Amino acid sequence: MDDVTTAFHSAFGYGPEGVWTAPGRINLIGEHTDYNDGFVLPFALPHALTASAARRTDGRVRLLSRQSPEEYAAPLGDPVPGAVRGWAAYPAGALWVLRDEGHEVDGLDLLVDSTIPSGAGLSSSAALSCATVMAAASLYGADLAPGEVARLAQRVENDFVGMPCGILDQSASMLSTEGHALFMDTRTLETEQVPFDPSAQGLTVLVVDTRAPHRHVDGAYAERRRSCEEAARVLGVAALRDVTDLPSALAALPDDVSRRRVRHVVTENERVLRSVDLLRSGRTREVGPLLTASHASLRDDYEVSVPEVDTAVDSLLAAGALGARITGGGFGGCVVALVESGRVEDCGKAVLEAYRERGFEEPAVFGALPSEGARRLHP
Ligand code: ADP
Ligand code: MG
Repeated sequence: MDDVTTAFHSAFGYGPEGVWTAPGRINLIGEHTDYNDGFVLPFALPHALTASAARRTDGRVRLLSRQSPEEYAAPLGDPVPGAVRGWAAYPAGALWVLRDEGHEVDGLDLLVDSTIPSGAGLSSSAALSCATVMAAASLYGADLAPGEVARLAQRVENDFVGMPCGILDQSASMLSTEGHALFMDTRTLETEQVPFDPSAQGLTVLVVDTRAPHRHVDGAYAERRRSCEEAARVLGVAALRDVTDLPSALAALPDDVSRRRVRHVVTENERVLRSVDLLRSGRTREVGPLLTASHASLRDDYEVSVPEVDTAVDSLLAAGALGARITGGGFGGCVVALVESGRVEDCGKAVLEAYRERGFEEPAVFGALPSEGARRLHP
């Protein structure tokens, strides 16, 4: 933290008024359910983004990131949806959304620093939006509950950046607590902190950042979302969350693609509920097969996997992982696996070897402990 304060000082010539942090997240299970009013079960990563910030009274905004050479400086009133390119769209969008919802916000100096790999499916974008909304809101006296920050940060991506994501990432970053997974009903926004301490049970959550290049990620995501909305309309339900009789729903759908999309969403919601029950009763190992079933569904029915991801999942399972799946929006990104702690090394080696054999870029493999959610670090 001294480090970011010093960096802010050397960038702007004075010290920040405050420092905020927001973590990245891994979704244990519940993929592509959040925009179908369904269930999710993420937890916060130890990897986090910090935003150090100070108010300006001249109505100007200056945005810097230690991970990007692109600097942004403009009058506060300038940014409008679609007008800001690159990473600055997220913090500029955070200022825009606060003003759009009637909060009085003036200029801002902001410096971002982060340990969350960007574009890897670990939600660096949500961390960036959440941290900036928090910083600007609290500097300008808007007292926002964490869930409210999540909603505004989702609006940053939806209405300013143009990414039609659900509220999973932002909620995970804002509401997670150490040693817990966050069970969330994305329709009611009700949450439950489900105790999840893998290491106490001799288990490790292993993450593989496949570093696979994202392929058509935005268009394909929007297309999945549209086909879910269309299927809900055909089935006469408000959202796919409301499908209770899967066989009848499948029989009522006109084509194979929409049948497979619906089957994924409905069975994935069931898998989240079963996982939560298992965690509540301390039967963590039994979550493994549900992760693997989730992967098969995302690969075959939802069609969001890629060869690098399947290779990681297959080699983890072959090396003895209890379960493994793609996590995040898909088309690259990360794999999450539940592994006996004694097998972590074997599993990591198996993935590296399989990647080498197939000539894929070397992936990053690390263990992830459920960590603390977003908060003000200083003062
Ligand atoms: P993910 O959220 O999975 O990391 P996204 O594509 O949604 O992937 O978001 C990545 C984008 O977020 C980057 O392209 C960049 O615009 C922005 N971003 C994330 N971290 C930083 C950072 N430390 N500095 C500047 N921009 C960042
Ligand atoms: Mg993102």
